[in-house]
Amino acid sequence: MNPQVFQTPIEFLKGVGLSRADVLKKELGITTFEDLLRYFPYKHIDRTRFYKIRDIQPELPYVQVLARVTHFEIAGDKRTKRLVAQAKDETGIMELVWFQGIKWIEKYLAIGKVYVLFGKPGMFNGKPQMAHPEMELYSPAVLKQKGNLTLQPAYSSTEKLKQFSLDSKGIQKLTAILLDQYGNEIKENLPLYLLNQFKLMGRAEAYRNMHFPDDAAMLNEAQHRLKFEELFIIQLKLLKNKLLRIQKFKGHVFESVGHYFNTFYNERLPFQLTNSQKKVLKEIRQDTQRGVQMNRLLQGDVGSGKTVVALMSMLIAIDNGFQACIMAPTEILANQHYQTIKSLVGEGFIEVALLTGSTKKKDRNILHEKLEDGRLKILIGTHALIEDKVQFQNLGFVVIDEQHRFGVEQRARLWRKNNIPPHILVMTATPIPRTLAMTLYGDLDISVIDELPAGRKPIQTVHYYENQRLRMFGFMKQEIAKGRQIYVVYPLIQESEKLDLKNLEDGIEIIRREFPMPDYQISIVHGKMPAKDKDYEMQRFVKHETQIMVATTVIEVGVNIPNASVMIIENAERFGLSQLHQLRGRVGRGAEQSYCILMSSHKLSYDGKIRLETMVRTNNGFEISEIDLQLRGPGNIEGTQQSGITDLKVADLVADQQLLIQARKCVEDIFARDPQLTLPEHQVLHLAFLKNAGLSWDKIS
Ligand code: ADP
Ligand code: MG
Repeated sequence: MNPQVFQTPIEFLKGVGLSRADVLKKELGITTFEDLLRYFPYKHIDRTRFYKIRDIQPELPYVQVLARVTHFEIAGDKRTKRLVAQAKDETGIMELVWFQGIKWIEKYLAIGKVYVLFGKPGMFNGKPQMAHPEMELYSPAVLKQKGNLTLQPAYSSTEKLKQFSLDSKGIQKLTAILLDQYGNEIKENLPLYLLNQFKLMGRAEAYRNMHFPDDAAMLNEAQHRLKFEELFIIQLKLLKNKLLRIQKFKGHVFESVGHYFNTFYNERLPFQLTNSQKKVLKEIRQDTQRGVQMNRLLQGDVGSGKTVVALMSMLIAIDNGFQACIMAPTEILANQHYQTIKSLVGEGFIEVALLTGSTKKKDRNILHEKLEDGRLKILIGTHALIEDKVQFQNLGFVVIDEQHRFGVEQRARLWRKNNIPPHILVMTATPIPRTLAMTLYGDLDISVIDELPAGRKPIQTVHYYENQRLRMFGFMKQEIAKGRQIYVVYPLIQESEKLDLKNLEDGIEIIRREFPMPDYQISIVHGKMPAKDKDYEMQRFVKHETQIMVATTVIEVGVNIPNASVMIIENAERFGLSQLHQLRGRVGRGAEQSYCILMSSHKLSYDGKIRLETMVRTNNGFEISEIDLQLRGPGNIEGTQQSGITDLKVADLVADQQLLIQARKCVEDIFARDPQLTLPEHQVLHLAFLKNAGLSWDKIS
């Protein structure tokens, strides 16, 4: 029979039929054989182990006992009627009790016989007790039956399903039928040599053992095999896409490093590059020489100096007759990049312009013109850049900052700004764990800046509770007296904007009272303000006309004001780790010692406590991102939702990181050895890309 058998509608499975098919679909989304096969038990109940009555603890979720029934009687009155039995083994006595089905049990029980009893244990009057146990008369044959003396699968069910006798047991029966009838049709989809090399269980065997494992070790092997397969196939697809892109898209060749780069490097760069920055520049330099379009992700902690790397890469493009652009997710950020780049390149060197939603029509027209005739070399902006009206003479290099805020389609539109797509450098705002990057950005090359510029003093972080507020004000005054500037940030969470605004307003009130004019000046920036006012307030702070900037998280990313050396985060427990880290990264940008104060209430959740402790302990963004991943799981890390990687069925991006690294390495080796997958042993892999089989193939076929 052909593998399509697993696409058969579930109603055709023996024992299902139309009405059960209907509830399976409605309640569990199971419509095909395949769906049922991949409806894995959420746990297995260990029926291999027998407890002695002496060892029974009421905390155990369930126990299995071999015991002889020595006595039973009907107890209670009409309302409390129940059947109580006594069962005995050589270690003690246990009570069994039934409130329902008493008649039937009464007939079934035989004094002096041994039964296999199974159920949730309890304690009654200091004695072990079991209510409504599953029970079977003991005989050596009974133990050999399916479901006894094995790990028994437990499936989640619903009230509705139970009405159709599809409780865990019912689902188990269907799965058993499916595996009995079609289990042999499950085809291997990994090359044989990989199975041998990594000692992986065969695919059909793995599916069978996911449901009906012979023992715990086999269950583990089955899970291991399917996890590997899942991760392997994702990587196979990602790296195949990458290969295809390399084959399909030629890239501009930046032959030489010339005037612009050299002049900047020798005469204008105000500091020594770190080794990391040099290494990344070298990687980009190599990428842009091979005639293949570059797609590179640049990861680096806040303040690690990604912008200057981006700029120097753009200068190489310009040296080779191309234009370059930077796209940022917000106006503030675009503006920030614009300011930074302008101050880095200085006067009379190269033309740089800013294009955002608020650029005036008149300026826009001039800008368009200069872009088209090539006078304008570097354009910085928001997604206004991707509008069709924006035409470059010869765009060669694109920097995308904070990738996760842009969709894939937006990225692609930038590609189409030239006949040959420009080289792409993606910069992330926050470091993400290596394994997550492997999946999220698995089709990109990855560069990492893993050191901060020399001489940076690590930011000192403390966690204060509400009752330490006066101390905090004192500290603020002290720093302001030294000439420093201070951020005070309030959370802004969509669902309760009103409340947040109130929070902010109350906060401002208190700060105004504590820091009165004219000695102190305060800037206020929040999301609800018109861009014009925001900008004005920002500028006052930049020019040091104000000492304190009270803001919501609009300042989260990218803002660079070296003289601001204190970051105070109010209600810090309400922020996620990566956000806290981003915010803290706004300080520590100058020569002065910087500080971060995390204010929280006394009521902290467990996770909240870990987040704040982590922030106090470390400044390392990669370390923080690992903890963030562990706390929140991959599904909640920014950027993961759209990617679909959270649809993993068996593997777990947190727990299975080693396996992922292994699978990735495997796929890399395969493509290095056999890029077209033409070797006979790789034939089996082609199926992974079959259209229509789509994801399904990954699963079964
Ligand atoms: P990122 O974007 O990675 O958070 P930036 O590129 O904004 O970091 O750099 C942060 C600050 O460090 C900027 O003021 C920048 O000029 C400065 N900087 C970058 N590289 C170096 C270096 N090698 N030595 C000293 N300062 C540097
Ligand atoms: Mg930056």
